[in-house]
Parts: sequence; C-alpha cells; structure tokens
Amino acid sequence: MKKIEHVGIAVKKLSVSIPLFEKLLNTPCYKTEVLTGELVNTAFFETGKNKIELLEGYSPESVISKFIEKRGEGLHHIAFEVDDIEAEMKRLSDEGFTLLNKKPKEGADNKLICFLHPKDTNGVLIELVASK
Ligand code: ZN
Repeated sequence: MKKIEHVGIAVKKLSVSIPLFEKLLNTPCYKTEVLTGELVNTAFFETGKNKIELLEGYSPESVISKFIEKRGEGLHHIAFEVDDIEAEMKRLSDEGFTLLNKKPKEGADNKLICFLHPKDTNGVLIELVASK
C-alpha cells in the first residue's frame, strides 16, 4: 500500500460540515459528488497530498445514516492508495482479511475501491483506492 489517500468522516449535514471544514482546513471544498448506489453525498477537501472526504447519508437506509445512528458523527474510514487493486485484494484475502467487495467497485472521485471488514482491522474500516 502507498500513502493514505483520504480519510472519510461521517457527518449528519454537509450543509453544516462543508463550511466547518473550509474554516478548519482553510481551503475550499473542491468537489461534491452523489453516490446513488450508497445513498450518500460526498464532499472533498485537499490537504497537502491527502484528502478529506465528508460523507452524508441522504436516506435512513444509507450505511452512513446507520453508522451515525449507532456511533454518532466522526471518523468513518481510512483509504490507502494502491497501484493494482485486484492484486492487493488477492494479497489481503490470502492473508485472511475479509473483503466487503468481491470485485473493485466504482467509488467517488473517479476511483476503483474495495473495503475491508473492520472486524479484521481493529475496528477501523479500511478502503483501498486505485486510479482508473
Ligand atoms: Zn472513502
């Protein structure tokens, strides 16, 4: 794995959190994107070589809405950049990690992604990210 590509933070309302993070990071949100498959709205910030991804569920059925209901707003996942996502998925699966996606799926920001089950990673949801 390479650098941390982004950190994902679950928020209740992007309309509140975008201005908050703009103030915090002193940089504008450069992109918002709707992930219809996940019922999630996302907003991205660049901080040096890394990014912050804010995630808001727009339906109670969204995994983000369920996460916030259970655990409140806060750190949701850490994403690591990989060169070859299929090779990395195979390596991690062979090491005994549970992949939440059988195949790389379309993520926000024009990326291919795969999540690892947090039960194998000390409770931290890990995302693999590769450029398309
Ligand atoms: Zn992410």
